[in-house]
Amino acid sequence: MDHLPIDTSRDSQPIRLFKSDFMEFFTHISPVAIVALWLPIAALFLVYAFENAPSATIPTHIPLGFLLGLFLWTFAEYTLHRFLFHHKPTTPRQERIFFLFHGIHPAQPQVKTRLVMPFPVSIPMALILFGLIYLIVAVLLRTPQWVAPLMSGFLIGYLAYDLTHYATHHWEMRSRLAKFLKRHHMQHHYKDPNTRFGVSSPLWDWVFGTQGAA
Ligand SMILES: [Zn+2]
Ligand SMILES: [Zn+2]
Repeated sequence: MDHLPIDTSRDSQPIRLFKSDFMEFFTHISPVAIVALWLPIAALFLVYAFENAPSATIPTHIPLGFLLGLFLWTFAEYTLHRFLFHHKPTTPRQERIFFLFHGIHPAQPQVKTRLVMPFPVSIPMALILFGLIYLIVAVLLRTPQWVAPLMSGFLIGYLAYDLTHYATHHWEMRSRLAKFLKRHHMQHHYKDPNTRFGVSSPLWDWVFGTQGAA
């Protein structure tokens, strides 16, 4: 929602989303929490892949599946951000849901606990994704050994995205690449929210022509 005034202060009171303290608790999350949950899960998928690989051949599907998962993530990052998070709500109920997904962050971009994806959003999305990958790769294509490496790469891609996102807002960015990513994302917030949807890379902005004017 880009009609809200942007509050860039680092210490303003985070916008309240729920009346209940219990519900409100789950709308705040620190970047440490996402690493603590998703990194072990990504590692377990890899361990599972190695333990279940056929012993007669070299398991090349594991690194290949992992890289493919990373690549799939970059596409998911772009499409989710552009079409789901920036979807214009048409009913008050939708407005509430979309504000929870992506509205709070652009309204208060510097509030630290409202930056990375909260678990009530990321866990259901991960389960849907797992179901989809399982259906396509294990059931339709009959190559179940690719499911775990794909999931692992995808989750690491997600972590890289959300931590890069946090970094562009709160860390000093020194290297050329880091400076580029910070500028790319700050222009998405403060210059034109209809361009520069990629956060961890500008790849799909180039492909779909949303890289914005220089
Ligand atoms: Zn956005
Ligand atoms: Zn941001």
